[in-house]
Amino acid sequence: MEILIGKEPGQGRLLVSVSVNGKVKMAAMGGVGSVPRSVSRCFPAEGRAHCKIEVDSKGTMVITNLKPENVTYVDGMEIVAKKITGNSQVTLGKDKYAVDINAVVNIAKKLAGQEGSDEDNKEKKFFIQPLKKVWDTYHDEMFNLQKRQKNLGLIKSLYIPCTILSSGAGFLAKHVGLADSTAQAVSFVLYGGAAVILFYGLYRSFTDKSLEEKEQIGERFEHDYVCPNPECRHFLGYQKYDILRQSKNCPYCKCKWIEKP
Ligand SMILES: [Zn+2]
Repeated sequence: MEILIGKEPGQGRLLVSVSVNGKVKMAAMGGVGSVPRSVSRCFPAEGRAHCKIEVDSKGTMVITNLKPENVTYVDGMEIVAKKITGNSQVTLGKDKYAVDINAVVNIAKKLAGQEGSDEDNKEKKFFIQPLKKVWDTYHDEMFNLQKRQKNLGLIKSLYIPCTILSSGAGFLAKHVGLADSTAQAVSFVLYGGAAVILFYGLYRSFTDKSLEEKEQIGERFEHDYVCPNPECRHFLGYQKYDILRQSKNCPYCKCKWIEKP
């Protein structure tokens, strides 16, 4: 097990993180702002931290300073990498912020215990009703978008019957006994109509933002249609809310879903 520790960005607590099956898990210790500036910040996803503690299967621990510009002390001595025990006095940075190694390792073990956390989550309840609005909004937006695309297709398809009708107008006019000048006028109007439709259709195609909009709608949906457990927030897929609410648990974190408080 490899534990990364450092200052929590923003909150200034001590951040403890482990990677379990490629998934980063983390927890914060101490009060907000309790960790001094001389302790380097911890960015678990990037593998950046003040130091790391490696624990092997026998419980042997080695601490390694991760940044040459910060300092890590063990029993008052500056180290690069050193074997430690739960009783070692570990301090970080030039302000010598003291770290309780046993507490850090216990938290890390808890984080690493995937099974344990799934069990914990089964006890947690979250309301999924707010997701109904997310689904309805997504559904409406997609529906309107498709309607707009369909209308545009319809406008474009009017162009062909218009041109056919206008070229046939003269012929038709003779058979119903219209004057030549009237037939010409009818043909002219229909040609004009066809041209207007053609240009309007082209203009709409050029100014159409359907594709970008579709992408934005999809992105927003994937951001919002997630498990309500703040520790999970896994995207729940393109399934209707009515189907979702029939499941009693999150398929990812196993937390309990209930519809109403
Ligand atoms: Zn979940």
